[in-house]
Amino acid sequence: MSPPGGANPPRGEIHQKVKGVASCHLPQSDMRIIIQKFGGTSVRSREDRVKAVAKIIKAKKSGYDPVVVVSAMGRLGEPYATDTLIQAMKEAAGGDMNAREQDMVMACGEILSAAVVASMLEAQGYAARALTGAQAGIYTDGRFGSAALLKPDPERLRTLLSEGIIPVVAGFQGVTRDGEITTLGRGGSDTSAVILGVMLRAEMTEIYTDVDGIMTADPALLPEARVLSGVSYAEVFQMADNGAKVIHPKAVELAMRGNIPLVVRNTFNEKPGTRISNYNDEGLGDVLVSVAHHANRAQITVDLKRPGEEAAVLQQLALQGISIDLINIFPEKMVFTIDQGLLGQAQDALDGMQTLYTLRRGCCKISAIGSAMHGVPGVTARIMQALAREGIAVLQSADSHMHISCLVDDSQTRAALRALHKEFHLELV
Ligand code: ADP
Ligand code: MG
Repeated sequence: MSPPGGANPPRGEIHQKVKGVASCHLPQSDMRIIIQKFGGTSVRSREDRVKAVAKIIKAKKSGYDPVVVVSAMGRLGEPYATDTLIQAMKEAAGGDMNAREQDMVMACGEILSAAVVASMLEAQGYAARALTGAQAGIYTDGRFGSAALLKPDPERLRTLLSEGIIPVVAGFQGVTRDGEITTLGRGGSDTSAVILGVMLRAEMTEIYTDVDGIMTADPALLPEARVLSGVSYAEVFQMADNGAKVIHPKAVELAMRGNIPLVVRNTFNEKPGTRISNYNDEGLGDVLVSVAHHANRAQITVDLKRPGEEAAVLQQLALQGISIDLINIFPEKMVFTIDQGLLGQAQDALDGMQTLYTLRRGCCKISAIGSAMHGVPGVTARIMQALAREGIAVLQSADSHMHISCLVDDSQTRAALRALHKEFHLELV
């Protein structure tokens, strides 16, 4: 590898930049590397894992060199799911753990999953090796619970691949330069998969999950949602950033910057899934590609009484690590939303500053997304009309060239999504 920040990469080498990091130069090879990431619902039961393993074997038999990334097995309540492990360890400790120790617990679920999947591959006659994030060369900064990726080290994975061994990497985790175990935040296994895709210049990075791809809405709320065949990084980023949990926004951002192709597909069938690239090849007749929702929002309205009060409030919330959204500032008031789970913390901060404010709990942010809306007059009018027809009040709104968001009461989430989905003909092929 060349030194960080070195001169132009020599011919035959690839130059990649990862956030906050220098660059790494990877020798090109004639390997056909494919990253295959399996989410929690894809490795939940033994039956599910058999399906996941079949996808890996199929890739290997088709001439690919797979690098597998796995999430922890299942969801809260199931024995090896991350939330179950945290709950059990808090009970064992008799209270909250500090962030460093909690990350050690949180990293366990993926390690168990990697060991199990690697063993299942071995049992079928395929050489495989389970690796922690650290062993796979995934380096991060020291922010426990939401660590940022640093320059990765691909050497061990490359060696395993050159020996014909299938690496099975524990997702969602990394290691600091000092050897501390860190986790990347919720949905972080998607990010692990993409960073490996970028660092190994994979031919394809596949995100396997329990739905057929990226859809026009969350199918758990709208059964009429339709799978998108090809959609742009920018649009998927907006969807993910506005609550569509099918993929992590950081993973989409990294893939876009690394310009690596991503595919989201179902572990449990052979459907082609959704290709995410620079293009949207949907050819939709209308201006949206999807609607997304972000539940559990609380709206805070601050009465501005003193000069500079808005800046002081924003700064205080930032110091508390509370991120705010849908911010509107007027001469006499400021309105914004936060995660409802952080409301107590925000109230303490505001009370401490003797700020006057009112609260509205139980809100949901609904977003209409599509790059084709740019410069098209009347999109907001159609959104407001469609919501008004259903008697849905808009509590606040915001927009960019690619999305329009409206805050509504939680109880109206499904009706609001359905109204927009219908208005913009998203159910039609
Ligand atoms: P995994 O365990 O594979 O990471 P997740 O639960 O994180 O799976 O993500 C898959 C879920 O994302 C789906 O079951 C679906 O309910 C939800 N989802 C939300 N928005 C969308 C969307 N636009 N398209 C597809 N799935 C979505
Ligand atoms: Mg996920």
